[in-house]
Amino acid sequence: MFCHREGQKLTLEHIYPDWLSSLFNKGLKGTNEVSSDNVNRVWQGRVFQEKVKLVCGHCNNGWMSAIEGETKHLITSLAFTHDGHAFSKEDQRKVTLWVQKTILVMNKATGGVGDFDIPIGFYERLYQTKQPLSNVMVSMGWRMLANGSKDQPLASFEIKQVNTVQAEKKSADMLRMQMENGALIWTAVLALGNVVFHVVGTNINGDLEVGSSDPRMFSQINPFVESISWPLEWPIEAVGGLDAVRKAM
Ligand SMILES: [Zn+2]
Repeated sequence: MFCHREGQKLTLEHIYPDWLSSLFNKGLKGTNEVSSDNVNRVWQGRVFQEKVKLVCGHCNNGWMSAIEGETKHLITSLAFTHDGHAFSKEDQRKVTLWVQKTILVMNKATGGVGDFDIPIGFYERLYQTKQPLSNVMVSMGWRMLANGSKDQPLASFEIKQVNTVQAEKKSADMLRMQMENGALIWTAVLALGNVVFHVVGTNINGDLEVGSSDPRMFSQINPFVESISWPLEWPIEAVGGLDAVRKAM
């Protein structure tokens, strides 16, 4: 999926990283949900043990595993603990790379859900640079996943193409031309425990203001703006929670 090596055997890759399941009881079953504009699949399974054959062993055990290794403690603390801490530029870089990599895997893993697929160029760039992609904005919000919120999924992923764009008149024609030639904007929401990532990617050239999330609920981590103190001031529950965030995608 990333390297396009010929003759490489594909290995089973965990959609959600394997180390996440070690945070939970072995027998714990959970509800998995994948949705798009026209599909909504829900199934039961062991939490965080869904696997797909999408990447070769070289990628899976190499650079992808390295990303997991250096980001695990940060994701765990964002998603499953309530300790407040500063979130530095380097932390944000690591988490961004993990989020972008995970979204690209999930997009393929949930392939066939709806008509949308992230263009190959995003995969190639991430594979070549192993650095956060500047054209994939990432922001994160704080979700209060308390004991009383049993109807809320532990993890969820949603992705779709953005079909309407606001533009200045002078750039609107340029934009329309690029979009007619296959350029697009996509948006995804990935929720994991107490953290929710809002991601907006585009391969349109030029200055484009995309997907500004509510700044009280979401802090942008890519491109980098400033250090963040976590948790954020307001949880997303203040604006209606995950459902409202997804509706606003
Ligand atoms: Zn590979």
